[in-house]
Amino acid sequence: MASRTFLAKALCCLICFCAIFCTTPALAQLPAANQMPSVIQVPAEAQASSHFDPTAATNAYLAQIPADKTARSDAYFEGGYWLILWEFLYGVVVALLFLNLRWSARMRDLAERVTRFQPVHTFVYWLQYVVLTSIFIFPLTVYEEYFREHKYGLATQTFGPWMADQLKGLGVGLMLGGVLAMLLFGVVRRFPQAWWIWGAVVTILFSIFTVLIEPVYIVPLFNKVTRLDDLKIVDPILSMARANGIAANDVYEIDVSRQTTRMSANVSGFANTLRITLNDNLLRRGSPEEIQAVMGHEMGHYVMHHIYVGIMFFSIVTVLAFSCLRWALDWTLQRWGAKWQIRGVDDPAVVPLVVLLALVFIFVATPISNTFSRTLEYEADMYGLNTSRQPDGEAQADIHLGEYRKMNPGPIEEWIFFDHPSGRNRIYAAMRWKAENLKLFTAQQ
Ligand SMILES: [Zn+2]
Repeated sequence: MASRTFLAKALCCLICFCAIFCTTPALAQLPAANQMPSVIQVPAEAQASSHFDPTAATNAYLAQIPADKTARSDAYFEGGYWLILWEFLYGVVVALLFLNLRWSARMRDLAERVTRFQPVHTFVYWLQYVVLTSIFIFPLTVYEEYFREHKYGLATQTFGPWMADQLKGLGVGLMLGGVLAMLLFGVVRRFPQAWWIWGAVVTILFSIFTVLIEPVYIVPLFNKVTRLDDLKIVDPILSMARANGIAANDVYEIDVSRQTTRMSANVSGFANTLRITLNDNLLRRGSPEEIQAVMGHEMGHYVMHHIYVGIMFFSIVTVLAFSCLRWALDWTLQRWGAKWQIRGVDDPAVVPLVVLLALVFIFVATPISNTFSRTLEYEADMYGLNTSRQPDGEAQADIHLGEYRKMNPGPIEEWIFFDHPSGRNRIYAAMRWKAENLKLFTAQQ
């Protein structure tokens, strides 16, 4: 979920100014090294005909991807599986260091010396904790988000601007995370027995608040969003929006090419803040058919209220997580609380333990959260095909997205690791749709 990624990112940043000045990245690699072919011609097997076969059409699309690009994309994505494990283990080790060496208790003592006001204790503790853990996690962060992304031609920033973004992320994490921490410890003090229920409620409401303010207050810290004026692109999108009851008057462009070569788009906000946003990579590299297919998918998310479905899922998971947390905290604090010098659940020094337990919960829940997400993405694909009627545009988009997603995984692999359907399954669904709507395509010929 958005807040999880956000907090994880916030925790993965670092204040390390010397690194900005001491490092001169030697990255002459061109992003183009990883780029998938932009299909200009629909392959012969995918053209409308009396012998159209969805499987043959899917294979023909996949055959357009050169073997070296497939190998590269597979290596990138499969490396991500291991990163899930390394991130988990690394995070657990860092949390255990903070507990066993009693750094957490010392940070709490320091916070208590600063002031007698309890919410400020929490905030001062949080500042120390986030900065220190960010420094510990920095080697993994810089490998994963900087060097590895450059190696695979997905990143576009040099080290200085990348580090500046990390610091901004750290600032956002300190502020928003600090407010949430103060609220949660306030809840624990007020409701010593039922804190886990009210803690879950506060977390859910705070996450919704974060999602609401993100486009207005957080996104502009990292990127520029401008109104798109190219009528060739805007008109078909707004027409599609009107046909689907989406009250948007403008289409926006976001300059994510500052950070990455990835393509994406979204429909966000409510009533007055409703907006359709395409990223500049999609605009630059996508064909009109592809852009329409992607927009159809995004409109599917919007019309089918996936944001609310997501909030409901997140709410259930959060309540479950807090009930597990309550049990696990009681159990661990009884055994090791004295050794770690943690006074109880209401002591900010408990934070590394909460993070450790959250890491275990998130790690175990990975296939469940991926399957939830993948199911909604599949629905949006179906909606997008019916709306845009661009199965070949969809196939092109899937091949472009294959620059950072494995195209053809096994079924168990897809179930565990994929938060979107695999490229092969998405192209197959598009070709299956085309097979049942051949008249739309034969009429044009
Ligand atoms: Zn989607």
